[in-house]
Parts: sequence; structure tokens; C-alpha cells
Amino acid sequence: MHNIINHLKKSNNILLTTHSHPDGDAIGSLLGLGLALEQLKIKVSLYNESALPIVYQFLPSIHRIKKDAGNIGDYDTVIILDCSDLHRIGAICESVIKIPVMINIDHHSTNTRFGEFQIIDPVASSTSELVYRLIKEMDIPINVGIAYALYTGIMADTGSFRFSNTTPASFEISHEMVKHGADPHKVAHHVYETISLNRIKLLTMLFDTIEVSENGKLSIMTLTQQMLSASGTLIEDVNGLINYAKRIENVKLAVLLYERKASLRRKSGSEFHVSLRSDGTVNAAALAMGFGGGGHHNAAGFDIRATLPELKKIVFDFSKHL
Ligand code: 5GP
Ligand code: MN
Repeated sequence: MHNIINHLKKSNNILLTTHSHPDGDAIGSLLGLGLALEQLKIKVSLYNESALPIVYQFLPSIHRIKKDAGNIGDYDTVIILDCSDLHRIGAICESVIKIPVMINIDHHSTNTRFGEFQIIDPVASSTSELVYRLIKEMDIPINVGIAYALYTGIMADTGSFRFSNTTPASFEISHEMVKHGADPHKVAHHVYETISLNRIKLLTMLFDTIEVSENGKLSIMTLTQQMLSASGTLIEDVNGLINYAKRIENVKLAVLLYERKASLRRKSGSEFHVSLRSDGTVNAAALAMGFGGGGHHNAAGFDIRATLPELKKIVFDFSKHL
């Protein structure tokens, strides 16, 4: 950690980024660290390839995260947050390698350990928790923007302090963030309690797609582009859908098959993103790694080029191992 701190104190212009289709932890860690480094009078640019989910638009300074990375040649350092491998940041991965120093901050056990400097701890609840440790080591004061960002990141990645990655540290840091001005009711209101009518319509369509394997241990939900357009929702408006499939009794592994937009299908060569959620008895990250993806023991994902019937056959085969 000290090498990283020494380096950061010498840096003048830093690009910070995180994985495309960001979740609460990706956004929280990006915003939290960006706002903190800025207090050291370092110039920072925050970048994400995707549109940000509506539910996180309430975060103070969220507008600082841009879809334009600026001029890559201007940066002396790039910080990659919450990415188990560099490709997760999207198309920009090819140009950021030209930035002289790369720092990798992540909590995925499948992290490929890219970059000159790394802060990797798979036991940490979230990347936001690692950002908190760094900010503390650097003696940077926590302002209300940082407090909201890190609280939201930890809350999102622990499933509101319900998942097995919830530790005393998750509560201790959250406690401190609340003391610094993060309002838990406000965060929960925006992230969980506000659902558009269109999203409810999408849910009814999605529930109709649920299939369960013969032994009852595997559930599959399918989300197509046609369903998004018919319900008038955007993919960045929906999150946590897979949790419905995971709550079904006796299910050990829940799977969401998400059909990519036609434009992205051409660009990335993958037709589907597959999300996996385990009840803990099966290692979802190991299954995902078998298809070039990664993640955590209980939550993982991968991209695949296949037709829907081919993909369903592959996924139903997972049930034999459950
Ligand atoms: P989700 O299912 O929400 O997309 O992702 C669940 C977890 O798996 C997250 O921690 C995410 O970072 C990881 N993950 C999802 N898709 C991929 C992928 O294609 N590659 C890798 N390495 N990790 C992924
Ligand atoms: Mn995370």
C-alpha cells in the first residue's frame, strides 16, 4: 500500500475507471476515490463506458463520471477499480495500457493481477471497502460525497448487508460513512424503493420466462431485447433481476441469460451475458471461468456466443453438478 501512496502523491493527472455496465460498488468506488484524490489537488477524470443506472443518479457528484475518457496521452496514472481483468473496462482497455502507470484495486478472487500496483483482497466485501482503506491510509478527510459513494458501494455489494461477504468491517465503515452524512434511508429509497411502472411490466414478462431444472436446483430467467423494448425499459434501468430466480426454494444456482443489443453483439462478438448466483454450495466463479468469465464464489458471469437454445442446453447441464 505504501508504494501506491507514494506514487499517488507524485501523480498529477489520473484517469479512474471501472467495469462497463457498472453496479453500485463500481460506481461507489470510482466516485469515492475520485473525490478523495481531488482533495489532494490531483487532477482526476472519472470514466465509464456505459450509461449509469438511474437508481444511482442521486449520488452527489455522479455527473463527474463521464462517457468520454479525454486525451489518454495526458494521464500519468490510470486506476482500474472493481475489475477482475482489464477487458472489463470495455473498448478503452487497448488505449489505457499506454498510460505509464496502472493501479489495480479489486476484490474478485479471479483477479488476473494486471497493472504495476495492486490492492487486491478477495475477503473485502467490496472495492469500496478497499478504497476506504486507501483513503484512511492517506489521511484524506471523508466528505459527504465520499460518504454517500462508499456507503452505497458497500450496501450494493453486500446486498444490503445480507450476503455472506458482510463482515464487521462492512458495518464499521458504513457506520463511519453515515456519521459523515450518508443517509441510509435516502440511499435505500433511491436504490430499492423507486421502481418505474415500465419495470413492473418487464418483471411480469421476465417471471414468465422462469424455467427450473428437473432436479429443482437450477433456475433460468431470460431477458431479451424484445422484452426491453416492449416494456419501454433500458438495461441500465434494471438491476438485481436475477435475485428473483435465486429466491426460489431449493434452487442452488440461479442464472440470468441476457441477450445483448444488436450493435454490441457485433462489436463484442457475444450474443449473451450470463449472470450466475449461487447459494454458496457451488462455486459460480469456477463455472464462469470455464467460459472465460469470472467473479466471486456466489456471484459470477461470462459472455458467450451461442443461440438461445444452445445456451439453455449448456446451462441446464450445470444442474448435473448441483
Ligand atoms: P453480474 O452477474 O452482475 O454481471 O456479475 C456478477 C459478478 O461477476 C460481478 O462481481 C462481476 O464483476 C463478475 N462478472 C460478471 N461478468 C463477468 C465477465 O464476463 N468476466 C469476469 N471476469 N467477471 C464477470
Ligand atoms: Mn464489487
